[in-house]
Amino acid sequence: MVQLRLYNTLTRSKEEFHPLDPARVRMYVCGPTVYDFAHIGNARPVIVFDVLYRLLRHLYGPDHVTYVRNITDVDDKINDRAARDFPGLPLNEAIRRVTETTASQYMADVKALGCLEPDEEPRATENIAQMIEIINKLYEKDIAYIATGPEGREVLFSIAKMPDYGQLSRRKLEDQQAGARIAVEGHKKSPGDFVLWKESGPNEPGWSADFEKNTPSGDIEKVNIHGRPGWHIECSAMSNRYLGETFDIHGGGLDLIFPHHENEIAQSRCAFGHDVMAKVWMHNGFLQVEGEKMSKSLGNFVTINELLATEKFGGRKWPGEVLRLAMLKTHYRQPIDWTVKSLEEAEKTLDRWYRCLPDGDGSSDEKPDDPFLNALSDDLNTPQAISILHELFTSDMASKHGLRKHDDPEAIQYDDDLSIAVSSARILGLLTHPKADWEARKKSGTSVSEAAIDTLVTARLAARAAKKWAESDRIRDELVAMGIEIMDSKDPATGELKTTWKVKR
Ligand code: AMP
Ligand code: ZN
Repeated sequence: MVQLRLYNTLTRSKEEFHPLDPARVRMYVCGPTVYDFAHIGNARPVIVFDVLYRLLRHLYGPDHVTYVRNITDVDDKINDRAARDFPGLPLNEAIRRVTETTASQYMADVKALGCLEPDEEPRATENIAQMIEIINKLYEKDIAYIATGPEGREVLFSIAKMPDYGQLSRRKLEDQQAGARIAVEGHKKSPGDFVLWKESGPNEPGWSADFEKNTPSGDIEKVNIHGRPGWHIECSAMSNRYLGETFDIHGGGLDLIFPHHENEIAQSRCAFGHDVMAKVWMHNGFLQVEGEKMSKSLGNFVTINELLATEKFGGRKWPGEVLRLAMLKTHYRQPIDWTVKSLEEAEKTLDRWYRCLPDGDGSSDEKPDDPFLNALSDDLNTPQAISILHELFTSDMASKHGLRKHDDPEAIQYDDDLSIAVSSARILGLLTHPKADWEARKKSGTSVSEAAIDTLVTARLAARAAKKWAESDRIRDELVAMGIEIMDSKDPATGELKTTWKVKR
């Protein structure tokens, strides 16, 4: 078996990968906060860790790998969005609509990018009890404390209680001490202390939580805070529930190293008393636009859905497989500058590869190519793996069949070599569709999730009913951008406003 080597952010070096238990290789990747459509930068970690998942399944057997990717469905950004989109609804109902439709769109998006479903996809709101339990462990040990901030009581993690805090991001404790935040957050013992739990107001989602510890006199001191979790504790709780106190790989984008992953490590290690949370920490580089990270806040983003289901980019829709190959042409730790040209090039490559395939579903029993596997096992060197695929498809096929014959599918047999090439491509999540669909997929892109459209349509009607015209226009523009045409009408009997929609052709 080839030896997998992975770059570990914790040690800043490439290391041989040896799972804690080869019969159960465990990987956790931070998933989306479901308040808005995912952009193609968010697609990068999903694709990168899908390739790693496929590789691990190949190396250790599909039944011996557990991949967990969470859904963050409690977050203040979600509350803001819910209040904005559904002004007429009770907040909890509005939040449920936002998270459900965003999560279903996300799942449709990543499926269109050819990603396997993780083994577990836990939601934060379904793991609140686990979070409270971990916070209690920290509170009992005096690592967490309660203080009153500007928006109510908070349970905070005291970074001074963890001597080696900052290992992952290599920030020193003193660095956390400096800066103007002291004045703003005077209730914290140290400015780097972070929220584990915060009190909720009447208009915020909240759960009742008891925090208990023994006092020196032997009594139990109990504080109840109706509140909600901080972001970092969510991943400590969900990774613990599904993968245990220590596990093999934890991943996400570079921006998660600090504070998110640093704080996950602090919480989990201190609560469970281990030297490690995950053995290997992996971080993908950014997808950029003109040298800047693609992000919601900069406004320079392209949603996955816009790229696959509308004609905004290069005047056409794109199949998810094209975006996938375009991303994998760059090593996952390098930045990528996003361009339509890179999509065009990736599509040409896929054209060529699909042309080599015979008709049919192309099931392939051969093992992947060794040099290909070696490249991929070298810290997921996808650019090299792809150039090996090029060779497998072009030179080999050309010599065997002659390029002329490629237009005649009958002439092409599924021989061993072709089978090896296809098995290899499939570890990258490519060529997993039948050849016959390729031309159609190029034309139709991928359709949008109906549930997501219905929600937007309902939100627009609610905004109109509340006479929030700017808001209803904004939602209409959003729908138009998704390639959806909306038709308003009035029920002649009741005068009630109705909206129907269809995908623009
Ligand atoms: P967020 O919803 O911002 O927490 O992001 C979800 C995931 O996408 C995280 O793993 C981020 O690190 C990652 N991510 C966000 N923006 C980019 C980007 N421009 N390029 C690559 N990864 C990104
Ligand atoms: Zn996380």
